[in-house]
Amino acid sequence: MAAVIAPRIVGAGHAEADWQASRWLSALPGRPLGPLLAGYRRLVVLSPHPDDETLACGGLMRAAAHAGLEVHLVAATDGEACYPGDADWTPQRLREQRPEEVEQALAALGVDAQVRRLGLPDGGLAGCRDTLERAVTALLGPDDLVLAPWERDGHPDHDALGEAALHVAQSTDACLLQYPVWAWHWLQPDATRAPFDAFTVRLDAQAMAAKRRAIACFASQLGTAQPATPPPILPAHVVERFLRPFEVYLA
Ligand SMILES: [Zn+2]
Repeated sequence: MAAVIAPRIVGAGHAEADWQASRWLSALPGRPLGPLLAGYRRLVVLSPHPDDETLACGGLMRAAAHAGLEVHLVAATDGEACYPGDADWTPQRLREQRPEEVEQALAALGVDAQVRRLGLPDGGLAGCRDTLERAVTALLGPDDLVLAPWERDGHPDHDALGEAALHVAQSTDACLLQYPVWAWHWLQPDATRAPFDAFTVRLDAQAMAAKRRAIACFASQLGTAQPATPPPILPAHVVERFLRPFEVYLA
């Protein structure tokens, strides 16, 4: 996540209680993890900001590692623009802290991932489409399962990375699954039908405990870091969206 002007991401967004009552969300079909991961050698996770991968995909990354897949994380930005103008949480400090939080989260998940930081500007991915597509194309190989943000997630960086991944997948036949992050803020829980073709993967109690520990590593985003941050990017009501016992992927 990052603090960037995004028209759909205003206010507090939907409470998790609304999502728990959502008929279309609860009606999404489930897919078992074993068959979902079978036949792939690597899981390649494309993340716009340091935390999106864990929030949206921590359970699937953990399951992939347990199933023997290599896990590769492509971090498009270092998330340096989340507290613009703050005297303590400067871009330089955030460029150091946030990737370190990702390493801690991956360790909490038990995922020995190969991390590639692209160092592209936080808030500026829409201007980096060619660079993103080249980087993703160069990284992908046969037998890869790719996770990327939904290209309509509602945050400019998420949408740009999602569009780049979609374009590369269409031109390479890579198998792409898309994940929502900010969409839980603005999608309608009470819609009469689901806004996308999607499925869920269930996380067992051990996976949930690991994901909870992993999310707790993002101190700079949760407001638990010292020195104190401005109002955090991940207040409790936002974190709740990512502590469901399932993850949602668009296929
Ligand atoms: Zn993000």
